[in-house]
Amino acid sequence: MNIEHIMDKVKARNPGEKEFHQAVLEVLESVEPVMKKRPEYAQACILERMVEPERQIIFRVPWMDDQGEVHVNRGFRVEFNSAIGPYKGGLRFHPSVYIGIIKFLGFEQIFKNSLTGLPIGGGKGGSDFDPKGKSDSEVMRFCQSFMSELFRHIGPNTDVPAGDIGVGGREIGFMYGQYKKLTNRFESVLTGKGINWGGSLVRPEATGYGAVYFTEEMLKTTGETFEGKKVVISGSGNVAQYAAEKVNQLGGKVVTLSDSNGFIHDPNGIEGERWKFVMDLKNVRRGRIEEYAKKFNVDYHEGKRPWEVPCEIALPCATQNEISLDDAKMLVNNGCMAVAEGANMPSTPDAAEYFVNNGVLFGPAKAANAGGVATSGLEMCQNHIGLSWTFEEVDRQLHQIMVNIHKNSYEAAEKYGHKGNLIVGANIAGFVKVADAMLDQGLV
Ligand code: NDP
Repeated sequence: MNIEHIMDKVKARNPGEKEFHQAVLEVLESVEPVMKKRPEYAQACILERMVEPERQIIFRVPWMDDQGEVHVNRGFRVEFNSAIGPYKGGLRFHPSVYIGIIKFLGFEQIFKNSLTGLPIGGGKGGSDFDPKGKSDSEVMRFCQSFMSELFRHIGPNTDVPAGDIGVGGREIGFMYGQYKKLTNRFESVLTGKGINWGGSLVRPEATGYGAVYFTEEMLKTTGETFEGKKVVISGSGNVAQYAAEKVNQLGGKVVTLSDSNGFIHDPNGIEGERWKFVMDLKNVRRGRIEEYAKKFNVDYHEGKRPWEVPCEIALPCATQNEISLDDAKMLVNNGCMAVAEGANMPSTPDAAEYFVNNGVLFGPAKAANAGGVATSGLEMCQNHIGLSWTFEEVDRQLHQIMVNIHKNSYEAAEKYGHKGNLIVGANIAGFVKVADAMLDQGLV
């Protein structure tokens, strides 16, 4: 396999899409040892086929604000790979969204979904719409307009979107309502639904809890636990909130949270009433994290990320490329022993490499944050059989899935001569299953 040759083609076909190039390069480098052992993959051009989405949809989303002014946003859905199941992956609403971000996320999703052990393919979508500062009715009108096009392309056995940055329970509700109105069908076409209308218990908690379960497994390999450890978390959205809750439950101390304006440092620990304050601030009042600092009289660092705060464990849970090489060095110097990526691709490639080469237990996003999509898979399963499982039952399955993902990634890394390197392990474990399915299904 010639990585450079494939990368040149990817860059020529997808010009300027740097996040997508970054995600592809990481996978190509990781699967090189597999390609050597399995020449039939190269013969069938598996990699060249995998880096090309099966289908890409870009559409206009017009909507009206509360003042009667018309706005036009762009909607995306990239249906990347359906070799092992219907396309599955979230929708992101954020002004930074363009096709390159959606492709990077969709590409990663293929391997992540494969790792869960569930029959789900990879896809991703979203819009450059910014829900921040918009009223509920503006968000509703946008979601309805977005779904007025998206509904043609999705379905319970075709493509099942979920939430991501800027898309939580409120947005999923508005989109589901519109889908139902347009199709006259109540079916499992979105996950992250409300608990009274087809949602699954534990879905809101799943990505954050899953990342912490995964970290627990990494820690176990060195005889460590969360007990008494200082934990730095970035973000204060869905993933960060529930990662913090689970860390607290396991005896760790969460000392930071952030948003796109800055971070708060609370040496007392963000738990109990303080954690509840964050939940209300971010999910109900939709305010800025700075308010926490004012309320509890702790430090707020405007325009900064939390990696300068000494910790034993770091959980980046905000966005892509939020840990640079310098940040990684700072974390290691300050004694950080484990990093698990709750967000997608939060470490730059040189930062991730630095962690691995410096003995930090490093859980890459594909593996560490797969708990969200895994529980979405469990939501689909409950919808198909028409039952709702208890919190304990879903949590038990989520936990087991995270244990398996760690085990499979660890073993794949070892098998291919990269013991302890979970980046390589997760990529290989996710890749082989999809590659084999593509071989079985012929040239489609
Ligand atoms: P939310 O929208 O709930 O929260 C995102 C958080 O990250 C907010 O605190 C936000 O701050 C912050 N943030 C967003 N963009 C930036 C930026 N450019 N710089 C600094 N901070 C930023 O999203 P989620 O918690 O759902 O998602 C967080 C990450 O986890 C994403 O990478 C997502 O892809 C990934 N993920 C999410 C899953 C899920 O189930 N939700 C599943 C798997 C991965 P602000 O409010 O100021 O924008």
